[in-house]
Amino acid sequence: MSRGIVFRRAFLAPALLALAGAAFAAEPTATVAPYGQLPSGEEVEIYTLDNGRGLEARITNYGGIIVALRTPDRDGQSGDVTLGHDSLAGYLESSPYFGALIGRYGNRIGGAQFTLDGKTYKLAANDGPNALHGGLKGFDKIIWKAEHSVEGEEPTLRLEHVSPAGDEGYPGRLTVAVVYRLTADNALRIDYEASADAPTPVNLTNHAYFNLKDGGASPVLDHELKLYADFFTPVDETLIPTGEVRPVEGTPFDFREPEKIGARIDADNEQIRFGGGYDHNFVVRSPDTGLFPVAEVYEPTTGRLLEVESTEPGVQFYTGNFLDGSIRGKGGVIYEKRSAFCLETQHFPDSPNKGHFPSTILQPGETYRSTTIYRFSTR
Ligand code: BGC
Repeated sequence: MSRGIVFRRAFLAPALLALAGAAFAAEPTATVAPYGQLPSGEEVEIYTLDNGRGLEARITNYGGIIVALRTPDRDGQSGDVTLGHDSLAGYLESSPYFGALIGRYGNRIGGAQFTLDGKTYKLAANDGPNALHGGLKGFDKIIWKAEHSVEGEEPTLRLEHVSPAGDEGYPGRLTVAVVYRLTADNALRIDYEASADAPTPVNLTNHAYFNLKDGGASPVLDHELKLYADFFTPVDETLIPTGEVRPVEGTPFDFREPEKIGARIDADNEQIRFGGGYDHNFVVRSPDTGLFPVAEVYEPTTGRLLEVESTEPGVQFYTGNFLDGSIRGKGGVIYEKRSAFCLETQHFPDSPNKGHFPSTILQPGETYRSTTIYRFSTR
C-alpha cells in the first residue's frame, strides 16, 4: 500500500507544481552577479533572467553567451537544455561558440575574402581556407556593454557593442544592439539591430547548442525535427555553398515532415559526407517579411518541444559533428559527437560572394533588424 502512495506522490508532485506554475506565476526577475575576469583583468558579469513561469536563462556579457537555459519537462522537472561550461575559464579555454553571439558575419565566407564596391577585403582564414563566425576575435569573444531590466512581464538583457572600422578586416564602423528577452509564453526572444557608417556585410546569429533531453550527456539522434524548408544550399568539401539551391525532396535533407535527426544522418550521400552529418544552410519557407516558423524539435522521453521562429531567410542546421569528446562541459559531462544540435538562424553562408543569395550588405542610413524566437513547451 505504501509503495502505491509513494509512487502517486512522486508522480503527482511535479505535475501539480507545473500546474501551479502556470496558474500562479512568480514575479519575473533579472539579476546580475560577477562571473570572473579575463586574462586582461577585465571584469565579466553573468545575468539571470527568470520569467517566473519555468524558463530561466543565464547569460554572460562575455560574448553574449547563453550559459544555461532551464526549461521544465512534461512532469514539470526543470533541466538545462544547452551545452556549455560551468565557469568563464571553460569558455576561455575551449568553446566551439557554445551559446555565443556571432558577428559580424555568422557562418563562412569563402576564401576568407569578398569584394564590395570594387574593393577586395581580406579576412582571417580561421576555418581552413575560409573565414568563420566573425574571425579571430568575433562578437563571441568581446565584452558587451550590458543592461538588465524587467519590462512588463519580460526580464530582458540589452547588450551593445561598437565594432570599429576595419575590425577583423570588415569595412565601416558597426554599432550593434542585441536584446535577449524571456516572454510569458516560455520563449527566449532575441532581437538584433545594427547600423554602419559604410557599406558592410552583416549576418548576426546565436550559436546555442541544444540537447532537449539532458543538455548534452547523450546523442540527439532520437530528437524529432521538422524544418520548414523546401530547399537547402549544397556545399563543397570546405562547407562553402556551391551556389546551387537544391530541393530537399527525395534527399536526407527533407525534414518537411517530422523525422528523427539520426534517421538518415549517415546516409550514403555526398552532402552528408562533406558535413560529417548535417552542417548545412536550409532555405526557410518564408513570406516576404515578418516572423515565420523555422523548425520544431521534439524530444520524446522528456516531452520537451522547441519551436523556432525567425525573420531570417536561412538556418544552419548543425548536428555537433565536430564535437569529439575532447571537451568536458557543465557538470563534468563529456560532449561526444552529435550530442547537440544547433539551429543558427541567418542569411546564407558566403552571401558576400554569391550575388544571387539574399544580400547581407548593410548600407549607411539603413537599420539591420533580425529577430529569432526559441519557444519551449511540452507534449
Ligand atoms: C558550423 C560548423 C562549425 C560550428 C562550430 C557551425 O555554425 O556550421 O561547421 O563546426 O559552427 O564552429
